[in-house]
Amino acid sequence: MSASSSRRYRPQRFADVLGQDPIVQALKNAIRSGRLAQAYLLSGERGTGKTTLARLIAKALNCSALTTDEEPCSQCSSCLEIANGTSLEVIELDGASHRGIEDIRTITEGISFGIGPTGYKVVIVDEVHMLTKEAFNALLKTLEEPPPRCLFLFATTEPHKVLPTIVSRCQRFHLHRIPRSLVIQKLQRIAKELEIPIEQGALERIADRAEGGMRDGESLLDQVIAFADGKVTEKDVETVFGLPSKASYQRLDAAVQSGDFAFPFTLVEELYQEGKHLIHFFEGLVDHFRAIVRANLQGTDRPPYRHEQAMSLFSDLVRRLDLFRQAHHPRVFLEETLLHIIRSRYVLPVDLLIKRLEALEQLPPQPQQPPSYEPILSEEQERPAPALAPSPTPKQTHTFSPREETLLQFAAVELEGIIKR
Ligand SMILES: [Zn+2]
Repeated sequence: MSASSSRRYRPQRFADVLGQDPIVQALKNAIRSGRLAQAYLLSGERGTGKTTLARLIAKALNCSALTTDEEPCSQCSSCLEIANGTSLEVIELDGASHRGIEDIRTITEGISFGIGPTGYKVVIVDEVHMLTKEAFNALLKTLEEPPPRCLFLFATTEPHKVLPTIVSRCQRFHLHRIPRSLVIQKLQRIAKELEIPIEQGALERIADRAEGGMRDGESLLDQVIAFADGKVTEKDVETVFGLPSKASYQRLDAAVQSGDFAFPFTLVEELYQEGKHLIHFFEGLVDHFRAIVRANLQGTDRPPYRHEQAMSLFSDLVRRLDLFRQAHHPRVFLEETLLHIIRSRYVLPVDLLIKRLEALEQLPPQPQQPPSYEPILSEEQERPAPALAPSPTPKQTHTFSPREETLLQFAAVELEGIIKR
């Protein structure tokens, strides 16, 4: 099977366009009432359906058996020609590879002849922001004096790069990323039509990688199907794209819980040996902590992370992700990051530190005790602060016990870290 799902499953009806209901409705209304604008600018991320929508409009305008719901029939000669890319009414230009004024001239000459008695000429320019300035100007001239029954559809991922003079002549629609659940549904339908069994986990991992782009989702699915032997599993998806397994993050949580400082080195070695992309693991790490913070906000604290700790780690990781991308030694950087996460359990929250310092200031001198090195786990597990009893001796004579010294050193290191930040 080739990378053809996206072509084969390109929506043939407006009803199949995913996640863009208000835009589809507005366009259908315009087609129904015959009040189409001269030009439309369709903007949106990769794979949100811009050119698909443009072709559907072209089909609807030229279809000889349009349904009452403004859906093209997909069977008349015009619909078939457009689907095959052989229609004379529809001119498509890829602005990324055909950027020059000559390319635009070919189009403008093409639209001036050959419009049938009922047809509509539709010019679709993909990635329109890539056109040269001269090409834009030539296009602008045509837009200023458009031939009758001619419609321009411009698609772009970067609308801010399109000349304002062009934008002002277009009606604009911004296509949103397709919700994850819809991407999953669609992929599921494709797999079903191909009669290929696929695990729900596999669909979810593909949808996550597609990031709201249907075309990406479909071509990722193609790749996994080509690899898998029979049933497509989550493991297949992980193998094909070098993704870390979800279990690695759960193992990290367990290492935090048990204070296993050797774990980062073990895990990174494993990822390395299995040929996983460390950047994917890092991205997954950010997602993992994002999920923990969200769970905490919804009131379900996820052990072994305190709310404050999880939020702080989440911000650290977001910052570190950028640094990781530029790191000369990504492997060492990742190990250090994982150590940082495990150590975070032993870092005191600032408010607790202040409370402690205040308590220490009020403390009477105590007899020397052997130093105590047990880790300070969390506020809940911490022994109660010493009672703030009035000091029987004057403060000037106060000396710190080893335990207090340790705490103060902790505090000093923490404060230093906070100041640096
Ligand atoms: Zn038709």
